[in-house]
Amino acid sequence: MSAVTPDAGAVRKILQLEVDKGYRDSAVIGGLDKFFENWLKSATLEPAVVRRLKQLLTQANYGSLVQEQRKVWIKKAVDLLNQETHPPGSDLKKSNITRRSGTAPTPAHATKTAPAARKRVPDKTGDISGLPLQTEITVINGISPSVAARFRKLGVKNLHDLLYFFPRRHIDYSKRKTIAMLAPGREETIVANVWQAKSVILGRRRSTEAVVGDETGNVRVIWFNNPYVARNLKTNDRVVISGRVSLFRSQLVFESPEWEPEESDTIHTGRLVPLYHLTQGLRPRQVRKIMKSAIDQLTLQIPDFVPEEVRNRQQLLTLGQAILQAHFPDEAMLKGRARERLAFNELLMLQLGVLSKKRTWQEGQSGNSISVKGEAEQVFRRFVQALPFRLTPAQDKALQEILGDLARPVPMSRLLQGDVGSGKTVVATTALLVTVANGFQAAFMAPTEILAEQHFATISRLLNRVGELASEEKALRSYNGILKRTVKVALLTGDLDVATRKSLQAQIGKGEIDIAIGTHAIIQKEVQFYRLGAAVVDEQHRFGVTQRSALRQKGAFPHILVMTATPIPRTLALTLYGDLDLSVIDQMPGGRLAVKTKWLQPEQRQKAYNFIRREINKGRQAFILCPLVEESEVIQARAAVAEFERLSTEVFPDLKLGLIHGRLSAAEKDETMHRFRDGELHILVATPVIEVGIDIPNATVMMVESADRFGLSQLHQFRGRVGRGIEQSYCMLLAEDPSEVGRQRLDIIERVQDGFKLAEEDLSLRGPGEFFGTRQSGLPDLRMARLSDVAILEAARNEATLIFRKDPRLKKPEHTLLARELARVWPESAEWS
Ligand code: ADP
Ligand code: MG
Repeated sequence: MSAVTPDAGAVRKILQLEVDKGYRDSAVIGGLDKFFENWLKSATLEPAVVRRLKQLLTQANYGSLVQEQRKVWIKKAVDLLNQETHPPGSDLKKSNITRRSGTAPTPAHATKTAPAARKRVPDKTGDISGLPLQTEITVINGISPSVAARFRKLGVKNLHDLLYFFPRRHIDYSKRKTIAMLAPGREETIVANVWQAKSVILGRRRSTEAVVGDETGNVRVIWFNNPYVARNLKTNDRVVISGRVSLFRSQLVFESPEWEPEESDTIHTGRLVPLYHLTQGLRPRQVRKIMKSAIDQLTLQIPDFVPEEVRNRQQLLTLGQAILQAHFPDEAMLKGRARERLAFNELLMLQLGVLSKKRTWQEGQSGNSISVKGEAEQVFRRFVQALPFRLTPAQDKALQEILGDLARPVPMSRLLQGDVGSGKTVVATTALLVTVANGFQAAFMAPTEILAEQHFATISRLLNRVGELASEEKALRSYNGILKRTVKVALLTGDLDVATRKSLQAQIGKGEIDIAIGTHAIIQKEVQFYRLGAAVVDEQHRFGVTQRSALRQKGAFPHILVMTATPIPRTLALTLYGDLDLSVIDQMPGGRLAVKTKWLQPEQRQKAYNFIRREINKGRQAFILCPLVEESEVIQARAAVAEFERLSTEVFPDLKLGLIHGRLSAAEKDETMHRFRDGELHILVATPVIEVGIDIPNATVMMVESADRFGLSQLHQFRGRVGRGIEQSYCMLLAEDPSEVGRQRLDIIERVQDGFKLAEEDLSLRGPGEFFGTRQSGLPDLRMARLSDVAILEAARNEATLIFRKDPRLKKPEHTLLARELARVWPESAEWS
């Protein structure tokens, strides 16, 4: 060893010292990063080794790593140094850096030794560091084609998938106990000497029985049905054992615990141990081992696509750290920070994606400017004055926002949110009328036939107040007196006869129809608008992004307004619908009576039936929602039929009942809904698939069975089916044996009427996955993000906006990786790739 330039062996000793000192970057003055930087300038090593060491240094700053990663870093450095002195194939023993006994004590989790090359057999394909992440996982040692096939079943094909194959949870084996401290019934971890291990017959099965001990005592360990462990345990081995302790013949015993030699970087014991999703033929230990080795080798080279500036500002772990800690956390706190970082990724990508969609949509497209001037102004005033009520301030505000958008030559993309009954339809209709007055066509899309019909009826009624019905066909109405010319409104649904549909399509194509109302029949390719200026999409959550863009193709960049009655907290809405501007009607028209809501005990069911009967005697109608059956739609339908039979024959034999469930055809459902709407049925029995948004003012009772099983937002939607008329309405909630959360929900829904408040409560009571299917069509998957992570959500949104403002096309060098990641997550936005 030269005094000036240490050789590889000397540097290995320095690394050994670093290990002994507990990875505190204290082996050399100034730190390992500086040391290596200087050393590599003068060291005489093989060029390949120098190159890879330099790579290691640029990939990760040793000083900035957490302990677990420092272990990996050192292992890599040692492996490289070994290549220098021991070319592949020679004896690798020297690389076996181990912690010497008798050094100063370090924290429990730091006493593990560096994994080094302990189990690493010199092999042909084992080294995967430096490989592109798209490489198939078969390059990993221990992944044969058949194992790879099993991983494929779990959605893991390449190294990238593997890194993102996060455990479903961790078991905490991190708290080490002595044998004297063990208690039955708990998951415990000990470090002990093996006194004896032998294969035995237990209950006719060949098993392993061992006795292990530490300074406080001895304990039995049994591996049922597994004689192989006996072969691997030798007397005097030191092992870490983690598992459940139970009592057997009044003695403590570990039953089939996880174990591994103490001399290793623990994977299965003594730490937060990951539990992965498995499939036939994959064993927990096998998967953990594969994961650990892959992560150790890859974690330092994972490029971090989040710019450093953003990472620092948000105090995020690096991507490599986050992935490592998400799988093999050093401690619970780091596991939490890892999740935050990974959730941030997902939300940032979501946000950048929607922002870019919005930009693509609006940029350079000269939309049509639709303004409230001239004839449009007159019609607008007359229409608003002729309404049977005054618009609420909230409606007014939303309307002004919409009209402001229409007037600009940029196509509008706006989401109008308002609780059921808040009066969205009037607002939308006003905007459509202004559009028509500007000489454009307008479209109104609803998710079901019956809702389309309802809108057709509502809009016709409203137009009747300012104009005069000139002619009326099955699906077409003409009005005079609204504008100088005749205004035509058509209803385009799937059940039109061919001739009518063809005729309507032709008239739409020639621009003769001013307002086309319909289901998705409106966006079929046969429908070509002559001059579509604006379109309204009702109940947005029923339609995917695809349908929205189909609608956009229908005209020369029409303005689009989407409406939803599903109250979504603002931050969440801005993220999920970040491509839309947001208007909220957060106020109900005055004079509306709150729906009286009552949570009833099971023994009060008969009382509830009596109450329904009294309301029906007063001329009202009622809904009864069947219990939620989760198994399948078929079983759900069968249960609903049985409940319907029971109610029809035993409870209300003298009344007329109808039934709606998911196995009926759309025509059958519509038929029953129509009969209920027209007052031919007293009670509508339904499964929870019942239509959203249907307006039956005469219905005053909603009875919900097994109400504790529904989320607050859903209960609120059910309740919104009543209380739409002038009479007092009631919502009765029955619950057999509610859980604690179920009770909380029932308690809240009894007290709270405001849909937005309920949505907030709902989000905090249960995850957003349940609240709002995150697997929305067209949106990327959210695995780590909980949409209740409001802080992360806002951070991601702010950062995305900043990035976008500075570098809208992500062309700057610091955004290269980000652009690439975005293209991966949103493959359909071709511009990124
Ligand atoms: P939403 O579609 O938001 O659920 P609707 O537009 O169907 O609500 O309105 C519900 C009912 O309230 C309709 O009967 C409508 O005529 C009425 N309405 C709308 N705005 C007002 C208002 N400002 N004052 C009184 N009633 C209103
Ligand atoms: Mg509505």
